[in-house]
Amino acid sequence: MIIIDQEKCQGCGTCAAMYPACIKMNEAGKAEVIDAECASCNHDEVVASCAFGAISK
Ligand code: SF4
Repeated sequence: MIIIDQEKCQGCGTCAAMYPACIKMNEAGKAEVIDAECASCNHDEVVASCAFGAISK
């Protein structure tokens, strides 16, 4: 399960652009998980996509 720390998220949009099936940007400009149990990857790549350490699993 992917967890996005809303405090750490800087709203850069990188994760949502790289993994649109799993993450979208919300009205507040922060990343939000669409499908926490997304089966198309094992999440390590998604976690690594955030340069700010906001994504964990
Ligand atoms: S890559 Fe990190 S800082 Fe950028 S939108 Fe995603 S969670 Fe937020």
